[in-house]
Amino acid sequence: MAQENLSLVLHSKGDLRLENRPVPEPGPNEVLLQMHSVGICGSDVRFWQHGRLGDFVVKKPMVLGHEASGRVVKVGAAVKHLKVGDRVAIEPGVPREMDEFLKNGRYNLSPTNFFCSKPPDDGNLCRYYTHSADFCYKLPDNVTFEEGALIEPLSVGIHACRRAGVTLGSSVLICGAGPIGLVCLLVAKAMGASQVVITDLSSERLAMAKELGADFQLTVTRGDGPQQLAQSVADMLGAQPHIAIECTGVESSMQTAIYAVRSGGVVALVGLGAEMVTVPLVNAAIREVDIRGVFCYCNTWPTAIAMVASGKVNVKPLVTHRFPLEQAVQAFENKRQGVGVKIMLKCDQNDQKP
Ligand SMILES: [Zn+2]
Repeated sequence: MAQENLSLVLHSKGDLRLENRPVPEPGPNEVLLQMHSVGICGSDVRFWQHGRLGDFVVKKPMVLGHEASGRVVKVGAAVKHLKVGDRVAIEPGVPREMDEFLKNGRYNLSPTNFFCSKPPDDGNLCRYYTHSADFCYKLPDNVTFEEGALIEPLSVGIHACRRAGVTLGSSVLICGAGPIGLVCLLVAKAMGASQVVITDLSSERLAMAKELGADFQLTVTRGDGPQQLAQSVADMLGAQPHIAIECTGVESSMQTAIYAVRSGGVVALVGLGAEMVTVPLVNAAIREVDIRGVFCYCNTWPTAIAMVASGKVNVKPLVTHRFPLEQAVQAFENKRQGVGVKIMLKCDQNDQKP
């Protein structure tokens, strides 16, 4: 094993560097992974560009990356379910305490979780990385490393659709056709949604959404009124949708989601934007529209892997660009400029395959 561990380190706002770090040793309940494929997330770019995301501020150098898969190269003494050579998908959030949230099965809400590439916790855009073995999930032979890395964004879609209550026959509005809007689309269709309409400013993104199974695409123009857009959604579907899943974090889009949804329906808020937003809350209240928050995911990895392995969900078209880890800064620049859908970084020098 090479003893160098090339890592993509964010030192502070705007200061992204590739540098060598020591290869870590796994603790008793950990595995050492040789990283294979890591997707670039919008949050990684936000930390690079702004040095913060919400309350999370970069104060010391941090390795980026959290949408990842790799190969087990060493196992801790207490690890029973994994062995050297296993290919795994990594769940980046790991509880540190047996608190009420963990007991209730909602461990994503625990305030003390470790989380890859959330300051100050290191991510896995590197050659070698250690992680809690309980949060590494073995991939079946027919699931590629890139599909393994895409289990993370797919998990966001599963958790969002669960929170929104998507079920057989649901009609769903998805606001935003970026990577998260697209995984919500894939999951909503797999969960039995009968009709999905998706919105975006970009006709290119909407073309991808159509390819992935969206029944209707609505092109939004800056300045369109939320009530007028809500009417367009109802006109397309023939009725108001039961559910709206908001993936942009943009105030006007949140307003559209509320106006669009049917009385008694649900609005799930996935997109992160400004801390304070103005929305038609009274309109929602008098129509008994439930507004639900969505934060990451919990208990989704086994489901997501099963859906990909069975072919019920196809995430492969989401990967539009690939760069070797050595070109990570260039890859981030592409992501910043909004190129493609999902950019994969290939961390294994000897295996750059999907
Ligand atoms: Zn992410």
